[in-house]
Amino acid sequence: MKLKDVGEFGFIDRIKDDALIRKYMGLVGIGDDCAVFKVDEGKSILLTTDMLLERVHFLREVMTPHQIGYKALAVNLSDIAASGGLPREAFVSIAVPEDLSLEELLEIYQGMKDLARKFDVNITGGDTTTSLQDLVINIALTGEIDEDLILYRSGAKAGDLICVTDNLGDSAAGLDLILNHRKEMHNYPQLIKQHFMPIPHVEQGRAISRSKMATSMMDISDGLASDIRHISKASKLGAVLYEERFPHSEEFQKYLAELKPDYLKTAIGVGEDYCLLLTVPQKNFADLKKNLNELGHQLYNVGEMTEGEDIYIISKKGEKSILTLSGWDQFKEH
Ligand SMILES: [Mg+2]
Repeated sequence: MKLKDVGEFGFIDRIKDDALIRKYMGLVGIGDDCAVFKVDEGKSILLTTDMLLERVHFLREVMTPHQIGYKALAVNLSDIAASGGLPREAFVSIAVPEDLSLEELLEIYQGMKDLARKFDVNITGGDTTTSLQDLVINIALTGEIDEDLILYRSGAKAGDLICVTDNLGDSAAGLDLILNHRKEMHNYPQLIKQHFMPIPHVEQGRAISRSKMATSMMDISDGLASDIRHISKASKLGAVLYEERFPHSEEFQKYLAELKPDYLKTAIGVGEDYCLLLTVPQKNFADLKKNLNELGHQLYNVGEMTEGEDIYIISKKGEKSILTLSGWDQFKEH
């Protein structure tokens, strides 16, 4: 059997059971966006880590070193945001290939530092090693949060509204342009920017967790079609998504009209949106939306949680079907 036979999430299910030797109240291990450690009465530390590999997650020929560094930190910030935390200390490990110059290496760190400064994050340490071929960057990031404010994937209730904090599909469209329509790339600067330099929704995540108006949260890294399954599974519920409610940017609409990609796959099946996916009881939706709007942020309702375990999608024509699209899993065949 190979990893690709079970996928990333099948693999995680197989390793998580005996991983905690010392179990205690307030400790959460493998399976959510962050691990959680209780450090003091009422205070918890969040910990997340993410690895970016050349040719798997990025192409060095189309991304600047600054963008590579920025994105490596951004994806980690997004996981702290997903739990509602305040990002704090970053540890950067990097494997440097022979053909990467010192100037490029320093630019990678500059990309990280520029983003770290915006979110008041320290780069506190790490490791540097040599690589035989590809550039590899791994970042581990801590976050702080009050124990009673942490949002997990498991808190959703039947009837809760499924919400997202940004437009869907821009990053996926950007990736499609980079891989398949390189000549047209310059016509879509926002889609490319969203793919290379996503802004992690840390402020939104903190506002949502502090409001206590949401029941579960995670970030969208693999696409709504995949990530809603994590909330459904963890909360032991089903879900229904409404295609006509999916929010899209103007540039995304232009891309759809001009390049005619597979709509559903691009909108919810590729991911890297790095916005937040959350569930909100219906009675809280208007207040939470107002709350976020006042901070200059968005909240869109795209569906609701249901009893059962199936995920349905209602097409723009009103047809209801089981959602078969599963989103990005790097270990499965595409
Ligand atoms: Mg995540």
